Amino acid sequence: MSEHAVVVGGGIAGLATAVALRRRSWQVTVLERKPSVSEIGAGITLWPNALRALDALGLGERIRHLGLVQAAGGIRDSHGRWLTRTDTDALAARFGDGIVIVERGELLATLREACRDVRIRTSSEVRAVERDPAGRDSDAVVRLGDGESVRGDVVVGADGVWSAVRGSLWPRARVRSTGTVAARLIGHVSEPEDVRGGESWGRGDYAGIAPLADGRRYAYLAVPVSAGVPDDPGEALAWFRHRFASWHAPLPELLADIEPSQLLVNELVDLAPLPTLTRGRVALVGDAAHAMAPNLGQGACQALEDAVELASALAATDGDTAERLRAYERRRLRRVHRVARRSRSAGIAAGLRGRATTTARNVLAGAVPGALTLRAFDATLDWTPP
Ligand SMILES: Cc1cc2nc3c(=O)[nH]c(=O)nc-3n(C[C@H](O)[C@H](O)[C@H](O)COP(=O)(O)OP(=O)(O)OC[C@H]3O[C@@H](n4cnc5c(N)ncnc54)[C@H](O)[C@@H]3O)c2cc1C
Repeated sequence: MSEHAVVVGGGIAGLATAVALRRRSWQVTVLERKPSVSEIGAGITLWPNALRALDALGLGERIRHLGLVQAAGGIRDSHGRWLTRTDTDALAARFGDGIVIVERGELLATLREACRDVRIRTSSEVRAVERDPAGRDSDAVVRLGDGESVRGDVVVGADGVWSAVRGSLWPRARVRSTGTVAARLIGHVSEPEDVRGGESWGRGDYAGIAPLADGRRYAYLAVPVSAGVPDDPGEALAWFRHRFASWHAPLPELLADIEPSQLLVNELVDLAPLPTLTRGRVALVGDAAHAMAPNLGQGACQALEDAVELASALAATDGDTAERLRAYERRRLRRVHRVARRSRSAGIAAGLRGRATTTARNVLAGAVPGALTLRAFDATLDWTPP
């Protein structure tokens, strides 16, 4: 009889893990607390490492087809002057793919569709995980909010940054504020043929723009927590319109195009590095394992890598389940810590405030030769499926 995995969380990490395990003939149950499997209305950047992971899940071509390959990018100042450009052709030549941008909903729907023979239970909130409840270590048990318990040979915590699975077995884990609030939106622009994307740096504030395949733009706007974004959605939209009014096109135009309900505002947090990613028969993936600042656009990319690596480790024929999970941990731990650390540093650089420091930062960014910029991606993008 094939083994059974209980995956807690039906986001990108959870569904990718379900697909990866099904491809290795595991029985999979996904427990999702929301009434449906759904994603927020925003875009997501998928780098070549994520596309390789999607290839391993049999979904790479579909996502490349749905998304748009960003034709040009880099970092600008708030007036639109380029500080540094990413040569996307050179990036594609070096890493085998460009940068693909898709709507989150499309990515999730693609993963959902690939979850054939996976039991997805919605409105199923997990409260806790018990490792080795009867002292047998023969299975792991998750406890649902209504008291029901579900058993698996393996439990995968894919329940995001505020993970209940992690809370049960890693009680000392710490979620940290990055000191930044971000607003995300998708809107129309008057010049859809201008498909340049990338990040733009001001003083304390920064923004990112990414073109979607249908001509719209996904954008994010980040400001310090101390700037005091209003809680009310209408007031928050007016606040961001005012704050970014003098920024380069198409940011003011995008903000003018949307309704208050289309602006998603949340504080950016990350997870202090965990010492382990597994405990017995329980493993963590995605934001539950390594929520990171979004500045390298790697959170979901790493989650997709996790899914492929976890399924591959569990497919090994030697060792018991806990040993196979530890092999997953050995392959992932240093890598996810390094990418998270770099993401945090990138966020600090983007959010610098003082006039002198931002001027020095911009000059430095512009002085780095293109070849060096490209090589700096190696440590992040050079991942291949096992
Ligand atoms: C502003 C911003 C921009 C970003 N941009 C990018 C980008 O361009 N590229 C990129 O790769 N990454 C990006 N990221 C990171 C990316 O969004 C996350 O890393 C990714 O969504 C994590 O997916 P996940 O499935 O681990 O967690 P989540 O998306 O949080 O999913 C967790 C799921 O578990 C469910 N759940 C939670 N608790 C329970 C429970 N107790 N019981 C049952 N179900 C539960 C939730 O309802 C949810 O469906 C960005 C993040 C932010 C904040």
